[in-house]
Amino acid sequence: MDAAINPLLAPWDAPFGLPPFDLVRPEHFKPAFERGMSEHRDELARIATQLDAPTLHNTLAAFDASGRLLSRVEALFHNLAASATSEALQAVQRAMAAPLAAHWSAVYMDAALFQRVDALFARRETLNLSTEQQRLLERVHLDFVRAGARLQGSARQRYAQVMQRLAELTTTFAQNVLHDEAAFVLELRDEADLAGLPAFLRAAAHQAAAERGLAGGHAITLARSLIVPFLTFSQRRDLREQAWRAWVSRGEHDGAHDNRPVAREILALRREQAALHGLACYADYALADTMARTQAQVWALLDQVWAKAVTALERERAMLEAARDAQGSREALEPWDWRYWAEQVRRRHYALDDAELKPYFALPNMVRAAFDCAHRLFGLRFTPRADVGAYHGDVRAYEVAAADGRAIGLFLQDNFARAGKRSGAWMSALHWQHRNGFESRPVVLNNNNFARGQEQGPTLLSLDDVRTLFHEFGHGLHGLLSDVHYERLSGTQVLRDFVELPSQLFEHWIEEPEVLKRHARHCDTDQPIPDLLIERVRAARCFGQAYESVRYTASALLDMAAHAATEPIDDIVAFERRVLAERGAPAVAGLNHRLPHFQHLFSGSSYAAGYYVYLWAEVLDADAYDAFVEAGDPFDAAVAQRLRRWIYSSGNSVEPGAAYEAFRGRAASIEPMLRERGLIDD
Ligand SMILES: [Zn+2]
Repeated sequence: MDAAINPLLAPWDAPFGLPPFDLVRPEHFKPAFERGMSEHRDELARIATQLDAPTLHNTLAAFDASGRLLSRVEALFHNLAASATSEALQAVQRAMAAPLAAHWSAVYMDAALFQRVDALFARRETLNLSTEQQRLLERVHLDFVRAGARLQGSARQRYAQVMQRLAELTTTFAQNVLHDEAAFVLELRDEADLAGLPAFLRAAAHQAAAERGLAGGHAITLARSLIVPFLTFSQRRDLREQAWRAWVSRGEHDGAHDNRPVAREILALRREQAALHGLACYADYALADTMARTQAQVWALLDQVWAKAVTALERERAMLEAARDAQGSREALEPWDWRYWAEQVRRRHYALDDAELKPYFALPNMVRAAFDCAHRLFGLRFTPRADVGAYHGDVRAYEVAAADGRAIGLFLQDNFARAGKRSGAWMSALHWQHRNGFESRPVVLNNNNFARGQEQGPTLLSLDDVRTLFHEFGHGLHGLLSDVHYERLSGTQVLRDFVELPSQLFEHWIEEPEVLKRHARHCDTDQPIPDLLIERVRAARCFGQAYESVRYTASALLDMAAHAATEPIDDIVAFERRVLAERGAPAVAGLNHRLPHFQHLFSGSSYAAGYYVYLWAEVLDADAYDAFVEAGDPFDAAVAQRLRRWIYSSGNSVEPGAAYEAFRGRAASIEPMLRERGLIDD
């Protein structure tokens, strides 16, 4: 298929280099991938076989600029496969996983190419490189080494096989979770089934039923924005149990979509991958390229938080039991009851009711709030581009302008849950910022999975949803504000225990009373949120943190245990049970992700032995926000300027520990994080 009939191969000349979304069909991808791979191979062969001695320009910069057709097709494909998938796209995904993995593995195992990179690396002190060029050389060299470029003979071959098989398995894992999420629908048939559900949840459940052709009814799916409020509000303990069991057993059903054998094989292959690098376990391999560097550092952080969180959970449990007793209930507290009774405590003890808060968090207002904070901190302006089309009618496009009016990028926001879109929230990009060869302006996407409101009113978010919106927007700013020369060092392509800093840090602004007064306005009356309600939100802030900390840390411990294992794990569910028992994990709290559906670990490798990174980054973000607190102004211009320079714009062009210290004037302290989570006993 040539460019005349395959729009993926033709120049993308829409604004900001967007693809012609309306023309792209699933059958265009395979030939485009193949053309992209073959062009990339030709480009690399020219770099590797040129007669000139290696220079930064003819080798590193050329390598950074290679494979652009393939990268742009891959970026588009991954976005569609996550946000608007179909049977046809899933078939392409399965068919292309192995060839693409083989391609990338061959790139980084190309001996002639590596020789040139290695020769430059050996002379790096004498090359007169700028700081960014030095960083590029070190990063690319490390990419090669970590991908197995130094392996010889049969080890080389085996390494490539392992990587290909892992690519297939991680694709299967994700598709299995998607299958189990799509397979479950809890139909609520009458008023008794709806007992306790507030209006917003009824509306969302009604919408979910309509989307599944269950006209006139209500349905709860495993989308986070439905299942979590259902467990929080439903007075029907039997239905809560049913929904909870479906939620926690994703990926753990006998049959064609069982993830237990998939996860087992992934773990075995990762152990083998580490062994080929001469390491005892995958955790050692993964952590070598992080800020934490060693297992000991990660365990120390997790152990400290775990002990404090388990103690604090007992205080929360006592409050829940008191609320239960006060209502004359004698039922034991089960995992499907926790959120329900926690909500009762929130209402009684803190006089805080999610349903009372929601009208202040209309989606359009919260999007405006995020834009306004970015404006006050960094001078950015977001202007809707109604003329820019995307892959689905839900997607909103905004041109992003800097303080001087220059358009620096495009921001696409896709906010609603729908069939064919994976769960969760994430940031991605269709183009990264760089200046290598030409000026590339970033095209950044945010995906959320909010339950759409009723047709007549705006979608109302929970405080949790608002935090998610700000979180992903923080990642988005990290992509949009990127200001580097080389693509490899751009935006969010940083060390993975640094990547959650810009996102988690941004969540702080929506809890600033001043920001709330300005943007959290009642959807019917346009009145700002009352001071009393803000105070109650702040008072209740720490309540529930023990529960969240236990659930998160349990998953992080499990991830580390699974990837630090030096022996085969035959039964991942038995392994999970054993690890949690050894840690004395309170069963009533459960955990964020069980192994059979732990997509962070098994739908790709970026968070394998890396679920801890959120907590690691939280140490940084809590400490970073304190810089604004110390300055006495959440938008202090000098702090914001340093934040932009060292955190949001520098990408991977500076070593992250050094970047953080340049911003803060010192290394981060753990105390602000413990304080924010209410884990300091006073
Ligand atoms: Zn994130």
